[in-house]
Amino acid sequence: MTVARVIVDVPSRDTDRPFDYLIPDRLAGWVEVGSRVAVPFGPRTLQGIVTGIAEDADVAYAKLKPLEDVLDALPPLSPELVELAEWISRRWLCPLTVALQAMLPAALKGRSEKYVFPAFGAEWLEEEIVRSGGLLDALRKGKPLKLAALLKQYPNQGLSIKRWLREGKLEERQRVENQVSVKTVLTVFPQPTGELLQALEKVPARASKQRETLRYLAEHNEAIPAVKLAEAVGTTTTAIRTLEERGWVEIRPVTEDRDPYADRDFPSTTPMKLTPGQAEALTPIQSAMANGESRTFLLHGVTGSGKTEIYLQAIQRCLESGREAIVLVPEIALTPQMVERFKSRFGASVAVLHSRLSHGERYDEWRKIREGRARVAVGARSAIFAPFTKIGLIVIDEEHETSYKQEESPKYHARDVAVERARLHGAVVVLGSATPALETYDSAVYGGRDQGGEAATYIVMPDRVANRPLPRVHIVDMREELKLGNRAMFSRMLADAIRDRLAKREQMVLLLNRRGYATFVMCRSCGHTAACPHCEISLTYHRGSQNLRCHYCGYSEAEPKTCPSCESPHIRFFGTGTQKVEEALAATFPGIRVIRMDVDTTTEKGSHERWLTEFRERRADVLLGTQMVAKGLDFPYVTLVGVLAADAALRLPDFRASERTFQLLTQVAGRAGRHELPGEVVIQTYDPEHESITSVQGHDYIGFAERALVLRKQLGYPPYGRLICVTFSHESVPMLLSVGAQFASGLKGRAASLGIRHDFDAAGSSAMEVLGPVSSPIARLKDRYRFQCMVKYRGDMDASALVAETLADMGEAVKRSGVQVSVDVDPQMML
Ligand code: ADP
Ligand code: ZN
Ligand code: ZN
Repeated sequence: MTVARVIVDVPSRDTDRPFDYLIPDRLAGWVEVGSRVAVPFGPRTLQGIVTGIAEDADVAYAKLKPLEDVLDALPPLSPELVELAEWISRRWLCPLTVALQAMLPAALKGRSEKYVFPAFGAEWLEEEIVRSGGLLDALRKGKPLKLAALLKQYPNQGLSIKRWLREGKLEERQRVENQVSVKTVLTVFPQPTGELLQALEKVPARASKQRETLRYLAEHNEAIPAVKLAEAVGTTTTAIRTLEERGWVEIRPVTEDRDPYADRDFPSTTPMKLTPGQAEALTPIQSAMANGESRTFLLHGVTGSGKTEIYLQAIQRCLESGREAIVLVPEIALTPQMVERFKSRFGASVAVLHSRLSHGERYDEWRKIREGRARVAVGARSAIFAPFTKIGLIVIDEEHETSYKQEESPKYHARDVAVERARLHGAVVVLGSATPALETYDSAVYGGRDQGGEAATYIVMPDRVANRPLPRVHIVDMREELKLGNRAMFSRMLADAIRDRLAKREQMVLLLNRRGYATFVMCRSCGHTAACPHCEISLTYHRGSQNLRCHYCGYSEAEPKTCPSCESPHIRFFGTGTQKVEEALAATFPGIRVIRMDVDTTTEKGSHERWLTEFRERRADVLLGTQMVAKGLDFPYVTLVGVLAADAALRLPDFRASERTFQLLTQVAGRAGRHELPGEVVIQTYDPEHESITSVQGHDYIGFAERALVLRKQLGYPPYGRLICVTFSHESVPMLLSVGAQFASGLKGRAASLGIRHDFDAAGSSAMEVLGPVSSPIARLKDRYRFQCMVKYRGDMDASALVAETLADMGEAVKRSGVQVSVDVDPQMML
């Protein structure tokens, strides 16, 4: 007999290993690596994924339990994805089940449901259930009934049901069920027209509806959903059933896709004639694909250089060679505009995966991929797990975007996963950006120093399509404005530019860089700021509900009228929210039409798309927003981009702060003048000499990158070293310090025993420094204190494994202490 190795869906380190189950005869042939199965686990039935099959496993068969069920006819994961999950769990230190679950659509994150049925005969039922006829009838049928539903329907019988279970009169069974299932539609399949016409003769004239239905079906001789048919002839589905009884039609459930784009038309496009620059960029990508090399390219092209057309033509070549393609774009760039460019070129073979789809829609898009009906997947981060089997190309657009790193476990980076997946498939990766991450740039230009993995090939496109100029960038020193008595939100230059565009009926994008600058509350008399009592985080003011909220734990309190510390009435809401800008715009430029896009106005499903369509149809002059308006938008009439508070995020305690600011400003500047009309950018700042801001003016990515790399080198930050952040949390600080110190010395000892130097500054190829434990930037969260150890290392070593071994060694002690540990390998957010 064969044995299946199963990873059960319990995300804890104790169960993070395969468990063996016998494959019963009835399931033989259905169980493969990647199958989703239901297995008995202690008293429960759980979902699991088969990660291995052993033909003649050397185990004590007698002790093994059999699998209960295989949950899908087609395994949702392939052996390749299982292998990828194993790699992810080692690389980012998470339980394997967490990596496997990240690859499944939410609909398949099955949960276990309890069913009950009478254990023996029905006589006892009659004796016990005297008054509740409904329950009696339900149970008497003998079919397993969902326990939760029974308890809800017969709340008065709850106690009795429990007692019968205990007494063994009712038996319990568990089943793993999907959260969402395929959607089926009852469909009517008519007999051929000739037979229907013959049938019609036998139907008496008074059965007019029946006659009408038959006539309709004879005329439109094709399958039709029962509901539609009933509607068309004004009858009921029950009436249609009688046609079935006579054998004139057949009624069967038919699976239907929930297509989120069903009501949209995508006019088809053909490949554009490439510019010489584009052609030159595409050639090495295509030849690598033709040769089946698994290579990574960095396509560094300024905004508007026509990167998307290169993606499209590379994908076309990939499809022609019989392989499949994945395109990742940042979540907020997944607008209909972006989707349209792919759907228009590749039609129905495109599946779209993003988080604004319902579970059902997402599941159906995913099934298109799994069942081979789609060959291009366009989506956000997790689309990297699209269940294709013959990948030829993976494109990551705006590869520098932070949203490609998942901040919860598994804390993977889609870029790294893409490179690994491409290796497994012999596929090509194209990383596109106008502002590549410094690590990627370094890898492409200098061969990747100590980042591990293979170097990327550098392709640069320094010009926009058709030699359209890059927009002119003006920097306005807001301190000067203040000196000259302008206390308004808009500098004179920006205000003039806005008036000018209003007069010309052109459009504008205004960016409020709000990260790290949210509306916090401060007392102008004593400097008191409102902080969350459970987390060491400033509270954010929400005008709509007039309260202060913690964005980490959800704590909220009423807006204070006086300072809670000194009772001064001069308490003020600092920072500028988009709402305030909107009000200022209306006051300064009467009649201006503004669309505000931020987290508050885009929570509703589809709202994001609606705003953008409205703007594209020029029903507004200004698109005002946070980061959301900076990315991927392409509107021909936008000729002005204004940035309020460009330097807001520069002072964040994160070594990537200036890189992020430069990227954001360059991206938003790139929204201007993308078509015939030339563009202009006005950046308002209190720090006009800052490198991140002056480099935007000169459109000087390379200058910025080279200078930033010098600084990184001095500090040993990526790409000159790599980081692992290990965070410990607990209610007690002394406990944290002791566990943190134990970890730090354990890791140092382990490194030393391998001959790895501790001094990062000294010459030599490999080194590892362990910094801390120190208080985390967010020192307290949900009443738990947080301390971190930052591991900084370079050279050829498996640092993740060293950290994992060190933590495993501390295992029992840490567990008893109740300290929670979370590990972030290659952290992207230092906060
Ligand atoms: P990027 O993605 O690099 O920012 P896009 O792909 O959005 O640039 O291209 C910018 C604009 O140039 C788009 O409007 C696009 O339709 C147009 N474009 C791209 N390639 C060509 C080409 N070969 N010929 C004419 N127009 C092009
Ligand atoms: Zn005060
Ligand atoms: Zn809080």
